[in-house]
Amino acid sequence: MKVKSKNPIKGIRLRTINIGMISISCILYILLIWATIHAWQKYEHLVSSTDEYIQCEKNAALVADGSNYLTEQVRLYTVTLDEQYVQNYFTEVYETRRRDSVLEHLESYETGQKTSGFLLSALEYSNQLMEKEIYSMKLIAVSQKQDMKEFPDIQEVSLKPEDETLKPEEMIEKARELVFSSDYQNSKELIVSNISSFLEEIIKDTQQKQYESSMDLKGMMRKQQLLISILFIENLLVFILIIQLIIKPLQIYVKNIQNETMLEITGSYEFKYLALTYNNIFELNAANETTLRHQAEHDPLTGIINRGAFDQLKQFLKAKLDPIALLIIDVDKFKLVNDGYGHETGDKVLQKVARLLEESFRSTDFPARIGGDEFAVIITDITEDLKSVIETKVNAINDALLHPDDGLPEVSLSVGAAFSESGFSDDLYGHADEALYDVKKHGRCGLRFYQKKEQEE
Ligand code: GH3
Ligand code: MG
Repeated sequence: MKVKSKNPIKGIRLRTINIGMISISCILYILLIWATIHAWQKYEHLVSSTDEYIQCEKNAALVADGSNYLTEQVRLYTVTLDEQYVQNYFTEVYETRRRDSVLEHLESYETGQKTSGFLLSALEYSNQLMEKEIYSMKLIAVSQKQDMKEFPDIQEVSLKPEDETLKPEEMIEKARELVFSSDYQNSKELIVSNISSFLEEIIKDTQQKQYESSMDLKGMMRKQQLLISILFIENLLVFILIIQLIIKPLQIYVKNIQNETMLEITGSYEFKYLALTYNNIFELNAANETTLRHQAEHDPLTGIINRGAFDQLKQFLKAKLDPIALLIIDVDKFKLVNDGYGHETGDKVLQKVARLLEESFRSTDFPARIGGDEFAVIITDITEDLKSVIETKVNAINDALLHPDDGLPEVSLSVGAAFSESGFSDDLYGHADEALYDVKKHGRCGLRFYQKKEQEE
C-alpha cells in the first residue's frame, strides 16, 4: 500500500542523520588523534630541552673541575717535583678527558655562530694553557734530569735557548712562575668565562625552546579541549535526536495502538512514513469493519435492522427498566402480490413498508424486518396511555399503502401491539404476536393491542 502522494512527508531521515553523525564523529576522532600525537611530540621536545639544560649545567661543572684538576697537578709537580703528578696530568688529558668530552658534547649541541664562538675561544685558551703547563713540566723534568719517555708531549718540547742555560733551581723557579703567574690565572679565567658565556647562551636557547614547546603544547591542548567539547556536544545531540526521533515516537505509537487510535505523525521521516501507512490501513480497516457490521446487522433488501440485530436488541432491552412497546407487523396476503405482480414488485413493496415504518416512528425507535413479510417495531419510552399515537401512525401507514401513488399494488398491514412497563419482558413478543393473530383473524388491515385475559389478571 502506498502512502498518499497528496500529503508528502516532511522530516529528517534517520539514514541521513546516521551518515552525518558517523562522518562528523570520524573527522573529530581523527583530529583528536592528530592533536594528541602533536601534543605528545611537543611534550617530548619540552622534556628533551629540559634534559639538555640539566646536562649543560653538569658539563659546566665538569669543565671547571677538569681544568682545575690539571692546574692542581701541574702546580703540585712544580712544587713537589714528584713525577706522579705528571702521570696524573696526562691521565686526565688522554683518559679521563673531562674538558674534551664536555667540549665534544657542547659541539654536538645545536648552536648559533655567536654561541660556538665562545666554545672555540674556550678551546683555544685551553690549548694555550696546556702549552704553558707542558713547558713548565719540561723545565722541571730537565732540571731534575727525569726521564720523560712515557710522556711524548713533554719529550717533544724543546727549551727556549735562554732557558737551556738556566741552573736547575732557576728552571724550577721559572716553571713555578709559569703556572702560578697572574698571566696563567688570567688565561684560566678566560676559559671559564668563555665556557660560562657559552652556557649562558645555551641556557637562553634552552629557555627559548622550552617557551616555544610549552606554547605549542598549550595550543595543542586547547585544540584537544575544543575537539572533546565538540564531541561531547555531538554525543548530546545524538542522544536528543534518538529521544526525539525514535524513542518518543515509539512511545506515542504504542499508546496510540493500545488506545486503538490512528498514529500521530511524528518523529523521523521513516516513522512518519510508517504512521501514515498504518493510518491508511487503519482507516481502511475501520471502513471495512463498519461495512461488515452494517451488513451483519441490517437487512440487505430494506436497509433496516435484521432478525439477528433485533434479537440482540431484545436481549439488551431485557436488562433495561424503561417502559416500551412492541409492534409485530405482517403484510396481508403478500403471497398474492408476489404471485400477481412478481417477486421484484414484492421486494419493492417490502422496501416501501420498511421506509414507511422508518419515517413514521422516531429515530429512538427500532423498526426491524424479522421475517419474509414480517416486521417489528420496538418503541422506546412509551406507556399505554399513548396507544392513540401508535394507532394514528399505523392507520397513516395503512392509508398510504392502500392508496399508492407510486404504481405499486395496494397492500395493508396487520399489526399486533403489546406494552411492557420495564424493558423487554419475556412474554412481550408472545403478547404482541397474539394481538397480531387477532387482527388476522378479524379480517386483517388494522391494529390490536394485547389485552390481558381475566385469569392472567
Ligand atoms: P397472510 O395475510 O396470512 O399473512 O397471508 P400471506 O400471503 O402474506 O402469507 P404469508 O405471510 O405466510 O406469506 C409470506 C410470503 O412472503 C411468502 C414468501 O414467498 C414471501 N416472501 C418472503 N420473503 C420474501 C422476499 O424477500 N421477497 C418477496 N418478494 N417475497 C417474500
Ligand atoms: Mg403475510
